[in-house]
Amino acid sequence: MRLSNYFMPVLKETPADATIASHQYMLRAGMVRQQSAGIYAWLPLGHRVLKKIEQIVREEQDKAGAVEMLMPTIQSADLWKETGRYDAYGPEMLRITDRGDREMLYGPTNEDMITDIFRSYVRSYKSLPLMLYHIQWKFRDERRPRFGVMRGREFLMKDTYSFDIDEAAARKSYYKMFVAYLNTFARLGIQAIPVKADPGPIGGDLSHEFVILAESGESGVFCHSDLLEMAAPGEVDFDSDLSDHVDKRMALYAATDEKHDEAAFAAIPKDKQMSARGIEVGHIFYFGDKYSGPMKADVMGSDGKPHTIMGGSYGIGVSRLVGAIIEASHDENGIVWPKSVAPFGVGIINLKSDNEDTNAVCETLYSQLSKAGVDPLYDDSSDRGGVKFSRMDLIGLPFAVTVGPRGIKEGVIEVKNRATGERQSLTPDAAAKFLISEFTS
Ligand code: ATP
Ligand code: MG
Repeated sequence: MRLSNYFMPVLKETPADATIASHQYMLRAGMVRQQSAGIYAWLPLGHRVLKKIEQIVREEQDKAGAVEMLMPTIQSADLWKETGRYDAYGPEMLRITDRGDREMLYGPTNEDMITDIFRSYVRSYKSLPLMLYHIQWKFRDERRPRFGVMRGREFLMKDTYSFDIDEAAARKSYYKMFVAYLNTFARLGIQAIPVKADPGPIGGDLSHEFVILAESGESGVFCHSDLLEMAAPGEVDFDSDLSDHVDKRMALYAATDEKHDEAAFAAIPKDKQMSARGIEVGHIFYFGDKYSGPMKADVMGSDGKPHTIMGGSYGIGVSRLVGAIIEASHDENGIVWPKSVAPFGVGIINLKSDNEDTNAVCETLYSQLSKAGVDPLYDDSSDRGGVKFSRMDLIGLPFAVTVGPRGIKEGVIEVKNRATGERQSLTPDAAAKFLISEFTS
C-alpha cells in the first residue's frame, strides 16, 4: 500500500476523552472513529487488524472441528421469551419494534437462536457432537461504554455453541475449546490465562475466562505464576484425550477478584504468587440444559430414548482484542504489533520523495516485499522525516526501513525492529532478503 493512496487520518493531539494507551493510540493512528457512545467506525488501518485477528480465531476454531455459519444481528423476541431471557436480560438489551409492531432485538448473544436452529434439524445422537460458530456483531447497551473498543456497545464476537448427548461428551467439547483458545491467544502474540469463572446455573468446574495481563485491566487477577510459563499446546489431535493440556492448568490457582479465595492463594509458594490486573478476552461456559430444556431440544440416544442435549457456549471478543493487544504491547511512542496481527508487515520510509535514487530503491523494495506477501506500507509522502518516523512508530509495524540519500551513496538502507529498537544497515538486497525471511519462517 502506498500512503498516498491510503486513508489513514493520523491525529497530532491525543483526544481528551481517551484515558488509556490503546484507546489513545487507536484514535491517533486513525484506526477507529467513534460514531456514537461505544459505537465505532473501523477505518482502514483498524479494519486490517480486526480482520487479521478474526482470521486467526477462525482458523483455530476450524482446527478444533467447529463449523462456521452466520446468524443475523436482529432477532425476534419470541425465542427469548421461550427461554425466559427476554425479561431477565434487562436494559443491556436493545429492543426494537418493526412496522408490524413485532418485538425484535439486536442480539447481545445467540444461545436461544442457535438452540432453535439445532432443534429444527437434529434428531439423532448420530449427528453429535456438533459445534457451530459465527463471528458476528453484537449489541449490549452497556451502562458505561469506555476504553474505546474494549467496552463498546456494538462489538464483534466469535461465539461457538456445542451440542452433546450427555455431560461426559460435553466435557470433551469444552476441553477442545479450552485448547483451541490457548492456541488462538498464543498465535495472537498474547499470554492469556484461563481463570475460573462463575459456574452459572448448574455448578461444576466448567467455566473459564481467558484474561490477559495489563495495568489498565478492569479486574484484579490472582494466579500461580506457572500458568504464565506454559507453552500453548500447538498442533494437537482434537479427537485425542486433551486432559493433559487442560487439567494441569485447571489444577493451578487462578481467579479474578470477584471469585478470589485468599486462603487458596496464600497456599501457593510465595515466589509463585502473581497478582496483577487483567482484561477478559474470552469466556467459555458449560450450561447443560439451560436452553435445551425450555426449548425442548431433544435427540434420540443410542438407547432409543429422547435425551435433552447438553450445551456450552464459548465467546471471544474479537474487537476487544484489538485494544487488548495494544494494552499488552506498546511503548511511549506508540503501538508495537505482534507480527501475526500487524496491519502491514514493513513500513518503508522514503526520506526524500523528490530524489530519483531514493525513489528507485523504495520502488524496488516495495515490489519485492509485495510479491513475497510481506505487505509493505510505503510512506511516499512529502512530509518531513521526523513526521514520518513518529507516524511509523505510532502505527507500530514490526519493521521500518529508512531510505535516505546519504545512505544510498554508501549503498545501504536502515532496517529498524519496532519491538527491540535494534537497527541494521544493509544493502537494499540484503534488507529485502532479511525482511522476507522474517515473515516466512
Ligand atoms: P464483561 O465481563 O467484560 O462485561 P461478559 O462476561 O459480559 O464480559 P461474555 O458474555 O462472556 O462477556 O462475552 C464474550 C466475550 O465478548 C468477552 O469475553 C469479551 O471479550 C467480549 N465482550 C463482552 N462485552 C463486550 C463489550 N461491551 N465490548 C467489547 N467486547 C465485549
Ligand atoms: Mg464473562
